Amino acid sequence: MNRREFLKISGIACASLFAGTSRISASEPTADLVLVNGTVVTVDPLDSVVQAIAVKNGRILDVGNDARIRRYIGHSTKVIDLAGDTVTPGLIDAHAHLPFFGLRENGTWVNLQQCETKDEVLSKLAERTKKLPKGAWVHAWGIADNTHHFLNRDDLDRVSREHPILAVHTGGQWGFASTLALQISGIDKNTPNPPGAEIGRSWGGTPTGLLVHYQAIYLVRRMLPQMSYEKFEEALLFAQNLYAKEGVTAIHDNFFQVAEISSFDSVGYYLTALSSNKMPLRVKLWPYMPNLQEARRGVTDIFSGKDPAPDSDYRKLALLRTENPSLFADIWGGWKLATDAGGPTSLWYKNPSGLPMHHKEELNEMVRLFHETGQQISVHAVGDEAVDLTITSFLNALKSHPRKDHRHRIEHALAPSSIALDRMAKHGIVVCTHPQWIYKWFDWPFHKRLDMERGVIPLKSYLHHNIAVALGADPPAFPLYRPQLALWQAVARITEKKYRFSTWETIPVKTALRMQTMGSAYAGFQERDLGSIEKGKSADLVVWEENFCTAPVIRIKDIKAKMTMVGGSVVYDRDRSP
Ligand SMILES: [Zn+2]
Repeated sequence: MNRREFLKISGIACASLFAGTSRISASEPTADLVLVNGTVVTVDPLDSVVQAIAVKNGRILDVGNDARIRRYIGHSTKVIDLAGDTVTPGLIDAHAHLPFFGLRENGTWVNLQQCETKDEVLSKLAERTKKLPKGAWVHAWGIADNTHHFLNRDDLDRVSREHPILAVHTGGQWGFASTLALQISGIDKNTPNPPGAEIGRSWGGTPTGLLVHYQAIYLVRRMLPQMSYEKFEEALLFAQNLYAKEGVTAIHDNFFQVAEISSFDSVGYYLTALSSNKMPLRVKLWPYMPNLQEARRGVTDIFSGKDPAPDSDYRKLALLRTENPSLFADIWGGWKLATDAGGPTSLWYKNPSGLPMHHKEELNEMVRLFHETGQQISVHAVGDEAVDLTITSFLNALKSHPRKDHRHRIEHALAPSSIALDRMAKHGIVVCTHPQWIYKWFDWPFHKRLDMERGVIPLKSYLHHNIAVALGADPPAFPLYRPQLALWQAVARITEKKYRFSTWETIPVKTALRMQTMGSAYAGFQERDLGSIEKGKSADLVVWEENFCTAPVIRIKDIKAKMTMVGGSVVYDRDRSP
């Protein structure tokens, strides 16, 4: 066998080994951009590490050693000497809520993240009310305490009786409203609990201010003044720029609100923003469907081919699908729904206060409807019972309408049973998880007990079962968003209070990097274009100050991006940014 034949049949395997000696013909194009003299962690199928990359028209023209890649340099080529720095594919956060994240981080909403005690929360709220005219709303996000009795309306009334206040737990699953906020929203002792949600009440039935689950919170949040498009865009850009700084190039917005449950036209705003060419990162959307009625409306309006009513929340998505299918494919992820919530009401077999978001029949029917559109479904399921219910709903839908490569997703799945793992593996169900949650959220005895029983965030078990794993930070539901924390915790599994979780679920950092790139790309049907540094893929690249794969474990969380590129364009440059 001559060398040419050998290279041909060995494909990618040998491309990197012999890269330096292959010939670039005269007709070979000149690159727009060349990065040389680096450590390029490609995350290709062989985990190849090379020295250099050539980019043309926003795509990767070639990868290999310096000698090979330098041949693409022409008069107009921009050359970056990496001086030994590490390059990885752009990281993909497979679970985030960008507008909410931006509104929390840019201070539009009062950010309660740093407040540990009730007094700190109340004084932070008071700080804001002092700056606002009477009657102006205060919306706050980020209560860290995990009990439902942390605050009540009296506490908030002490902050102000003249400003309606809504303060939400960081997970976004429950919150507290002041008396004025309850009054404006028309919530009193006669208000029934919305389906799958609860209004906290004292013995006489009077609301205490506690609102459990989205549908209860929305009774108040929808009364907030309409947000302007400019504010929305500002928050979206703010969030993306924070991500770009940490080497994230693509995001799955895994829960954005339709108008029925928010105070503004979020679908319209989002589509306008994503079509504007102003967004630095790639964003895909999974609109959240709160109930069966809304699910029916969404499915009919977007996918029936019939013209939706002029006032339909989904009209813009439906028009985009028919008029600009390629942009629709770029933006549309699939359907999002939730089986349970989080904290005290999540559905664990051992949790007597679990509160399901839907009746079983409704869950099954929603999943069936979504499945029959031929689209991906992404389901929030935290507890083991929620995971089992979700898998069953997927299997019911698949039984009546078999489909290969559906990639239906379970979001979170903190500690699935071994039977659940078998079922996920057998039926091609993808999981999106968050090793960084261990650090901040798993000091509770409940999680420690679970870990002794079966291992929480079981990354290695997922691998052994051959289950596709995507990683996402889930901000602002999770307080921290830097993906380096996920890479670190996939290895370290240690809490903020230094409790060390089972090491049998520890994976190597390079495997975690694969999950945060190729794994997340796969979960968004983007693996042909994103997730690794291979010929023909989009040039979404990050230059790092240190190599995750060789750095001491304790350093992983602190490694900073020096430059982030999306499609070959620089979206973050440390030397030029503050
Ligand atoms: Zn989430």
